[in-house]
Amino acid sequence: MLALNSVSRRYGDTVALDRLSVAVPADSYVSVLGASGSGKTTLLRIIAGFEEPDAGTVTLDDKRLDGVPPHRRDIGFVFQNFALFPHLSVGDNIAYGLLYREHAPVTDAAEIAQRVNDIIRLVGLEGLASRKVSAISGGQRQRVALARTLVTEPRIVLLDEPLGALDANLRERMCDELRDIRQRLKVTFLHVTGSETEALLMGDIVAVLSRGTIAQFAPAATLFAEPRSADVARHLNAYNILSGTMESGRFRSPAAAFPLPAPSSARDGTPVEVALRFDRINVRPASSGGDAALRARFITSEFTGSSVLSFFRMEDGQLVQVVSHLSGPMPETYAKGEVYSLAFDPAETVPFFERAA
Ligand code: ADP
Ligand code: MG
Repeated sequence: MLALNSVSRRYGDTVALDRLSVAVPADSYVSVLGASGSGKTTLLRIIAGFEEPDAGTVTLDDKRLDGVPPHRRDIGFVFQNFALFPHLSVGDNIAYGLLYREHAPVTDAAEIAQRVNDIIRLVGLEGLASRKVSAISGGQRQRVALARTLVTEPRIVLLDEPLGALDANLRERMCDELRDIRQRLKVTFLHVTGSETEALLMGDIVAVLSRGTIAQFAPAATLFAEPRSADVARHLNAYNILSGTMESGRFRSPAAAFPLPAPSSARDGTPVEVALRFDRINVRPASSGGDAALRARFITSEFTGSSVLSFFRMEDGQLVQVVSHLSGPMPETYAKGEVYSLAFDPAETVPFFERAA
């Protein structure tokens, strides 16, 4: 198990990591979801040993890693931009990791050829060993970068936004392959990304990185259904977050009032945020009312392939997003500028009484 215990790292006035603690189990796929600038790369660089923490410890199976040079950590790093040698062939790029590593380099040509060959097959690059990496596709380069790391047999592989440079359809395929390759090798993958879809799809466990620390660490399904804070829910890009105050045990804002899923003893005036899933809202004519409905004006819709995302604005200015999946009958179209009633089941909302500082 890889464990970070209260790790902090700052750059001048910027606090990149703030007393971050996390335990990554052996033989697992963990994804870390965080916005740009949230400290994802810093986290990986500290685990790899390219940076040292200002405070806190990093351990692997209870042995301290901080202070140990990168090449003695048994940790592999797949860089965001792949960082390959364009003038070298696929095979030579992969062999490079073995030949030139400071610690226990492999110099026996037959052994190198064997190991490079095995890994080429594993990542699906058969027939391309002698091709220059400048003459292969983005997806193939991604595989070379992965292979170059895997060939050194690290115990943990750190992947810095590994799919960021690929087109959407290729990204999906690589997702499956990455999971597959990891399962076969039984190594731990720690994959950081700014994409909630990717994080939820890839990770057995997803860690949400926010304000320099881990806001939630949970299996993807749990995280999605039970975000622990409004901040986590915002990262999932699947929830509207409504801000209001409590009044007689109900939610109230300038533009809406509705009951909460469970009776609350919170005093009147207590600030509350309520998360309401994009796909749990029914759009009805304004006249239909109901106890749990938001009145809002239709702005625009976007087709995203398998679903339609519609935007509405409440009287207090807050935006509400509604997702209709296209598996059923074609969803209705709405009239621009018209007021609608956005109905939902209050039992399905998630209230948060603590606001992040
Ligand atoms: P992410 O990878 O999530 O985009 P980073 O870990 O790269 O985030 O950066 C986290 C924060 O630390 C950012 O505000 C970034 O500007 C700052 N930072 C990272 N590396 C350095 C550095 N070498 N010098 C100064 N500031 C840095
Ligand atoms: Mg980064």
